[in-house]
Amino acid sequence: LITVVGSINMDLVVRAPRFAHPGETITGESFLTVPGGKGANQAVAAQRLGGTVAMIGGVGEDAFGASMAQGLADEGIDVRHVDVRGGRASGVALITVNADGENTIIVVPGANGALTTDDVTLARDVVLSTDVLLLQLEIPMAVVQAAAAIAHDAGRTVILNAAPAAILPDSLLPLVDYLIVNETELFTVAGPAARDQQAAITGLHDRGASAIVVTLGGAGARLVPRDQAPTLVHAYTVDVVDTTAAGDAFVGAFAVALSEGLPPMEALRRGNAAGALTVTRAGAQPSLPTRDEVDAWLSA
Ligand code: ADP
Repeated sequence: LITVVGSINMDLVVRAPRFAHPGETITGESFLTVPGGKGANQAVAAQRLGGTVAMIGGVGEDAFGASMAQGLADEGIDVRHVDVRGGRASGVALITVNADGENTIIVVPGANGALTTDDVTLARDVVLSTDVLLLQLEIPMAVVQAAAAIAHDAGRTVILNAAPAAILPDSLLPLVDYLIVNETELFTVAGPAARDQQAAITGLHDRGASAIVVTLGGAGARLVPRDQAPTLVHAYTVDVVDTTAAGDAFVGAFAVALSEGLPPMEALRRGNAAGALTVTRAGAQPSLPTRDEVDAWLSA
């Protein structure tokens, strides 16, 4: 079992010729609602890749909330601990894409921001029975910390994808078995003192982090265990269509592999395969691959 404690958002995507100026009204070309949120995306990724996934999170008391919870259930994810927050709006990301493909994004956390440590306590049995706990940073840090503490104390594997990047409390790092970051996130998480990747990683190890996984886009991913030499696992070469959700696919695949008892290097390899397949397709959740697709890719 993989348990995700994390965000559930609806992405509201407008395509327009350009961005509107303050006070101005312009006509856009299209509007799409796409389920997203790093928590939900990684839950969907892991479930499609053959994991058995339970989600702990919150949606608003609105049409988006109902449709997002149903969407997760349709994937086969256990949504018994996806709470409908009375009087709250669902988390949304308001995304405008201009003719050049640039975007502006406003995320309103809504129900995600209203999660409390009580939500984790209520779902304690799920966290205790899980093999892998998977966390990101789109919910309050106190909730991340509480979930990590329960799982860590019970000897479960804790994965933290520190995205969006934030300075991590020192009390959190020792609870995390695998800290997964991309190159930009690594420097934010490590803090301003780190001058290069090595310094950033050493600093995090010194603060109690165990293994650190740095995803490197088209270069693959590097596993840096504590007190052992780092290993680079190369990416697969593909034609890139849209890199959205590559990180979520990587993290989902990594979590599934660990939940099956595979060694970390094999988890990186599977993460790279899932990430590569995702960048060949447009969109977030729609582009996340299935286990059959990843297996076929790896045996090709
Ligand atoms: P994020 O999407 O979080 O910024 P990365 O860009 O590092 O993270 O991508 C995550 C993973 O997706 C990479 O480690 C790699 O496995 C895969 N990936 C991303 N971009 C490419 C690419 N251009 N070609 C092949 N694989 C890629």
